[in-house]
Amino acid sequence: MLQNYIPVLPWNQLTIEQRQAIKVKMAQIIGARLGILFGCAVERQYTNARHEDPYERAFEDVVSRFDLFLSRTNRAVTSSGGEEQRGIIVLASSGFQKTLALLANKLQQSGTRWRQLHNITDIPFFAPAKDTRMLQFADFIANALYGRYHTSLTGDFDRIANKFDNDGGVIHGLAHLTLNSSCTCLACFSRRGRQGSLVAPYA
Ligand SMILES: [Zn+2]
Repeated sequence: MLQNYIPVLPWNQLTIEQRQAIKVKMAQIIGARLGILFGCAVERQYTNARHEDPYERAFEDVVSRFDLFLSRTNRAVTSSGGEEQRGIIVLASSGFQKTLALLANKLQQSGTRWRQLHNITDIPFFAPAKDTRMLQFADFIANALYGRYHTSLTGDFDRIANKFDNDGGVIHGLAHLTLNSSCTCLACFSRRGRQGSLVAPYA
């Protein structure tokens, strides 16, 4: 689909205008599909203060949010006589693969810091991002989050923000782990609004 839109070239050989056109097109595709997004933005100071690895903390957070989404979905599906759904996780092959495989195994066996996982099977699978369209979309989403939270470039994030898991206007699919207790971003604003009724304390 994108091959018909922009000449197939390595990203670093495209013009700024071509890159922007691709990003807008990817955001349009994400917005038009049924897919639901999950993400976690971590400030290094936040995990440094807790002696945690930001990458591992973000992975645990996103896995937990995905499992909670499946629990919520399954409650609705089974109450209407439908079949329960299970989730799988596919990750881009990277230098973190070994670490994440170990962490995923621990989460599967012992649960996250908040709760046992109930709906995710056989985590995780690894695949080369260049061969997998869904992982390329995931990469775009991760970059959109990075732009929003690290460089103040909000355009890509703003185009997909409404696709993060939400229920009745409450955002469950996006976390911002920050030491700034008065942050007014979408995730922090929603978290403060739902405190007291949330199943898991995320921050
Ligand atoms: Zn925030």
